[in-house]
Amino acid sequence: MKKITILIVILFAGLTSFAQETTVEKEKEQGHYNISKFRQLKQELPTPNSYRTASGAPGHEYYQQKADYKMDIILDDEKQRIYGEEVITYFNNSPDNLEYLWVQLDQNIRAPDAITNDVKAGGPATYYNPKKFTEEFLGKPFQGGFNIDYVRNAEDGEMNYTVNGTMMRIDLPKIMKSGEKVSFKIKWWYNIPNHVIDGGRSGFEHFEGGNNNYVIAQFFPRMAVYNDVEGWQNLQFLGRGEFALVFGDYDVNITTPEDHILDGTGVITNRKEMLSSKQWKRYEQALKSYDEPVVIVTQEEAEENEKEVSKKTKTWNLKAENVRDFAFASSRKYILDGQAVKLGDRTVMAISLYSKEGNPLWGEYSTRVVASTVKSYSAQMFDYPYHKAISVHAKRQGMEYPMICFNFGRPKPDGTYSERTRNGMIGVIIHEVGHNWFPMIVNSDERQWGWMDEGLNTFAQLLAEQDFEPGFPSGGYPKNVVDYMDGDQAKIAPIMTQHDNVFKSGPNAYSKPAAGLYILREVVLGHDLFDKAFKTYAERWMFKHPTPADFFRTMEDASGTDLDWFWRGWFYTTDYNDIGVKGIKKYKVTEEPTEKAKTLAKRYNMTADQLGKNLYLIEVDATTIEGSENTASVQDIATLNEYLSDNFSKEERASFRDTKYFYEVVFEKPGGLVMPILAEITYADGSKENKYYPAEIWRFNDKEIKKIIGTEKEITGIKIDPNQLTSDVNLENNSWPRKESESNFDSFKKEKITD
Ligand SMILES: [Zn+2]
Repeated sequence: MKKITILIVILFAGLTSFAQETTVEKEKEQGHYNISKFRQLKQELPTPNSYRTASGAPGHEYYQQKADYKMDIILDDEKQRIYGEEVITYFNNSPDNLEYLWVQLDQNIRAPDAITNDVKAGGPATYYNPKKFTEEFLGKPFQGGFNIDYVRNAEDGEMNYTVNGTMMRIDLPKIMKSGEKVSFKIKWWYNIPNHVIDGGRSGFEHFEGGNNNYVIAQFFPRMAVYNDVEGWQNLQFLGRGEFALVFGDYDVNITTPEDHILDGTGVITNRKEMLSSKQWKRYEQALKSYDEPVVIVTQEEAEENEKEVSKKTKTWNLKAENVRDFAFASSRKYILDGQAVKLGDRTVMAISLYSKEGNPLWGEYSTRVVASTVKSYSAQMFDYPYHKAISVHAKRQGMEYPMICFNFGRPKPDGTYSERTRNGMIGVIIHEVGHNWFPMIVNSDERQWGWMDEGLNTFAQLLAEQDFEPGFPSGGYPKNVVDYMDGDQAKIAPIMTQHDNVFKSGPNAYSKPAAGLYILREVVLGHDLFDKAFKTYAERWMFKHPTPADFFRTMEDASGTDLDWFWRGWFYTTDYNDIGVKGIKKYKVTEEPTEKAKTLAKRYNMTADQLGKNLYLIEVDATTIEGSENTASVQDIATLNEYLSDNFSKEERASFRDTKYFYEVVFEKPGGLVMPILAEITYADGSKENKYYPAEIWRFNDKEIKKIIGTEKEITGIKIDPNQLTSDVNLENNSWPRKESESNFDSFKKEKITD
């Protein structure tokens, strides 16, 4: 034993001398690059140019391509297949020569050889139904994906094309110059997947008795985006990163079974022929019904309709201008209702399509929710420019297209539903209808950036939900993302991550960006500056293709506020916010120069007295930290009063605040984010006051800062972010005196005693 002790002593002695040596020969500290959290985003953002300005607006040479589609579509309900012949007219508005065109074949994600199957690496799925299990493991994959019959030029000559997964390159016989247009034809068909079993964003739901509800999207070869930012969009469709699409005009004929009810993107030019005369009358009524929905195709009619399957067909014609996509829903089971919405001097129709399985929930809420959403979003961003907004009930779907979206929310078979189902359905309808603004009109590249549509939309959704029903349990509040931001760093990606590569799409693309915008509106900018800036962004990029930089820059430009620190922290890092009150010290007023003042005087070759007649604040007593009694004595106040009467007239003094107490509050910041400090101060008389310190308070010390506060009343408590507006991940250090958990227990005990 003894031997060992001696050894240890020697060892320690050795360490000590080593430590001393290194202290003596302390190396000169190394320099570092600019690590200020307030440095500008010069390296992160692209250099402004004539396409996209430094202010975040489209530049004077901004351009975008255009693609018009003429399509003849056949929906084969017997085989659950869809056939199409389309003519695409592509306009090269870019200043560049194009040697080939890229077309997106997103339906190929359903092909047996789709790479999305090969890049999945997450272990077994939660569950496999028989069809899914057979497809995945028993060598019977679903035969999905496009079958391309031909690609031909306007003169019916074959064109060379190469399919690369979900993309197809079409080789042009000659260079397509700037300003030119080219028309070509594609003929195709594919097997429609069962979206309830196979998942995905479109397909059919099968019902016993042989009926299917079709929600059809990503169903035709669509032009990829070519622009000044990415060139040709070249990210494969893996399933999560959504779509990058070109605006254009559509003229679409859709042939369905004669007994189907259909709606989709665009004006149905022959709706009257498609409805019975009774239904058409009800439709005309709905066009003027501003207060409540009118049922156009009733549940009784739909139930009658689904009993038999018609072998005849009919062809619907839909025309849409300036849309980035096209989708439709069709079934003989559909009930249809509609309501008129007044927007300025225009009327927009809110429409719902649902089968009886959705009732009574859908009849009661869907169209009313659509109408409310159109109004809320129009007020926030810009008036809804299309003539209608449709909500379609589709099991487990929540997906948006221009003018039409597919939404979940189904009551139990007996028609009852939980609060959760109701709220889920209202929330998803508001969200998906809201997507008409982001990204259907403010047309960001969803394949790259999930947050640009989902995050902005989740934020706008929150406000629209509160418009529909104050107190609605919305997501997207700052407190909703605390668990995510405080979670395992290995499973968090910065918001500025391509959408297929984020770990958790929900918080990453939806709630965290939404919470960030909420913080900007409620904490950093205030409603006036934020709302103007957000609206400006939406208006500037309406029917255009914005990038993250355009958003960041516009928000700063239109609010007159540098927000680089906010974008940097919230969007480019995974840092979290944690601010606390470390302690509070009392100060008193004295005329006795402090050491600091003496040093300053010395520098100017003066005595401290020669600095002039000054007041100094000094700490009362080191032991007064935390909860001590008030030690600011009458004498201190006397000093102050004397000083004031020496220097100011009675009249002047009458307008001064009667400041008696001086405090130094020490704020700590264990979190990596910089954030304004919201401090709620409680005084001895029970009154409260809110103090706001902008984020820039952290410029020179990222860990701890001090603030001197003079008050009339004694401070008895300070609470940081009392309304949880800043996603502070740790509330334990938010209160002074620091007795959070104890005090709850105490007050509980007290309540019990005073019972
Ligand atoms: Zn969404």
